[in-house]
Amino acid sequence: MATHSSSPAVRRLSGWDHDRLLGLAADHSTPLYVIDLDRVRENYRRFAAAFPDAEVKYAAKAHTGSAVLSTLLELGVDIECAAAGELRRSIRAGSDPNALQYTAVNPPDADLDCAVELAADNPGLTITAGARDTFDRLAARGYDGRVAIRINPGIGTGHHDKVATGKDAKFGIPYDSVPGMAESVRSRFDLVGIHAHVGSGVLQDDLDDHCRALARVAEMARAVGDLEFVDFGGGFGVPYREDEDPLDMGTVGERVRSSISPLEAEVVLEPGRYIVADAGCLLTEVNTVKEAPSTTVVGVDASLATMIRPAMFDAYHPIRNISAPERETRAVSVGGPCCTSADVFCTDRPLASPERGDLLAIGNVGAYGYELANNFHSMPRPAEVAIDGTDTRITRRRETFEDLVRLEQG
Ligand SMILES: *Cc1c(COP(=O)(O)O)cnc(C)c1O
Repeated sequence: MATHSSSPAVRRLSGWDHDRLLGLAADHSTPLYVIDLDRVRENYRRFAAAFPDAEVKYAAKAHTGSAVLSTLLELGVDIECAAAGELRRSIRAGSDPNALQYTAVNPPDADLDCAVELAADNPGLTITAGARDTFDRLAARGYDGRVAIRINPGIGTGHHDKVATGKDAKFGIPYDSVPGMAESVRSRFDLVGIHAHVGSGVLQDDLDDHCRALARVAEMARAVGDLEFVDFGGGFGVPYREDEDPLDMGTVGERVRSSISPLEAEVVLEPGRYIVADAGCLLTEVNTVKEAPSTTVVGVDASLATMIRPAMFDAYHPIRNISAPERETRAVSVGGPCCTSADVFCTDRPLASPERGDLLAIGNVGAYGYELANNFHSMPRPAEVAIDGTDTRITRRRETFEDLVRLEQG
């Protein structure tokens, strides 16, 4: 039985210090991302405690901020990167390049160049590829170092079709071709691992499917044999809805272990979302309240440019009126200033009746929140502040208009 860390398995918006959030919004203006580094540490420790025999890497793409990366590096966590920019950020945050793993998905030439150059001086770096073509491109660059094969188990899991990577042909070598591929890869490279990342946002109900997919990955790893590690990817979910339960990591650890045993190779896991999602919230101020015949529309200063997950993945995010959580509730729609109907954070949701000037918090934005922020409508990306114990510091300043036009020429 795994040892359990004592931190709560989920942090809801009601669990944030409201006075502190109000103070941050007053000091730094809105919209404002807040990332709680203590919560990042707690999430990592709870996850790692459930897998005491595995190596747990952090999948950087969930949140690549240097404060998050260096917080995890200080705990001794290695980092999994899916693009050259993430490799560079990880090194900048203090990672030993030898400890990095680079998972190439349809990699641009420049990204392969970067990884191969890094590996020349840092032979511990591992490059994972999921297409014969990518291995050929690595060989053409003279690379013969550490590689892992990303396999497609043919089963995808997760909260949305757009993240069920395990059944998407884009990702990984088709299952039945893996043994042949392993032979050819072994003749040209140092084949150290098998890798699969089968989905995202996996909660209790998805666990059976997820474990079936992991079992297939383990079976293939046994067939290929003689490996240093088998990497089962990330995908562990967090409850976005208030009535959803968090994963019980003790159970998850046991279920995963029993699905993949026996394995001679080291087990690697790469959670992204699980580590950072509930460590982040987005503060936004109410600009406008409009009574329409069908609903009440609450206009806020955050938009799909600030946080795109509802528009992109139909994602549900909890929202709380931090200024007046006890006010009587009414069903409202909350949306931003973008000229598209997709720019809504919720529709007909009961909230403590928002009034102009109220501060709303949108929860669970630590993963794929700031990462997917963009500049639609020439809106500057927001600032981010990190909470670290009693300290608070700005980890990204707010973009300015000058930042937005800096790249334009002519
Ligand atoms: C995105 C990704 C992860 C992390 O996924 P989460 O759902 O955030 O845990 C892990 N490994 C790879 C290769 C990924 O692309």
